[in-house]
Amino acid sequence: MDKKQKIETMTDVMKKFTSYVGKHLPDDVTKKLIELREKETVPIAKTIYEAMFENQELANKLNVPCCQDTGVIQFFVEAGADFPVLGELRQIFTDAVKAATIESPLRHNAVETFIEKNTGNNVGTRVPWIDWEIVPNSSSATIHVYMAGGGCTLPGAAKVLMPGEGYEGVVKFVFDVMTSYGVNACPPLLIGVGISTAVETAALLSKKALMRPIGSRHANPQAAEMELLLEKGLNELGVGPQGLTGSSSVMGVHIESSARHPSTIGVGMSTGCWAHRRGTIRINEDMTYEILTHKGAKI
Ligand code: SF4
Repeated sequence: MDKKQKIETMTDVMKKFTSYVGKHLPDDVTKKLIELREKETVPIAKTIYEAMFENQELANKLNVPCCQDTGVIQFFVEAGADFPVLGELRQIFTDAVKAATIESPLRHNAVETFIEKNTGNNVGTRVPWIDWEIVPNSSSATIHVYMAGGGCTLPGAAKVLMPGEGYEGVVKFVFDVMTSYGVNACPPLLIGVGISTAVETAALLSKKALMRPIGSRHANPQAAEMELLLEKGLNELGVGPQGLTGSSSVMGVHIESSARHPSTIGVGMSTGCWAHRRGTIRINEDMTYEILTHKGAKI
């Protein structure tokens, strides 16, 4: 396969995968929703979980997106330094999104700021959004595709705390955001928390936390314990599925962190809704691929 063929092949794969992600929830989300449905005791909440599963069945049967808001498409890329089409990835993602918009179809969600005009193809200035990490001594690329819907990112926020506010300040921030905006998305939510130096680093880490499989834990034991405690506390709010009360408010809490300046604690929070449309695919040097989030997926 020459370079041109590799570009065409990968564009086609990313088009099909992006389209697939809009119609099928990843395995970890489905498993968690089943678990929450099983242990739910509030009658209205049980009914809502049933409606969610019926929605997924119909999306599959009718081959249509499982929520009307297919979001702004974001790609979080862990690209091998030797990946053969590294320099072409932006164009590949852009063309894949344009094609998926027609084929899937995806709702038109890219409005050019200041021009205030919908581009009509989900592509615009810095959209699709791409976040890069370059992996040395690797010739493959692992790509997380995320559909950032208006609701599921609406409760996102970030701020810089004074150092004296400590980890208690982080907890207060998470609860303030959840209780102010948490029902503007469709719960149960997946909560990503970033703890870092500044607003932009904390916000980005909070979003990256949503790319982790549900229930995976931070490598630091204290951070892992904080994830569990936040999860327990947020569930006790009793927000329930679709915010209509229930035993669970969240599908999980993930924390990502970095070293930070001693005089700041940057904290960010991002949310995924119950329809957490996130897919991960690994593409090899020869353009063969493996879908990591949806077992048995055929695209
Ligand atoms: S919050 Fe999620 S499920 Fe609800 S409308 Fe938005 S994208 Fe759809």
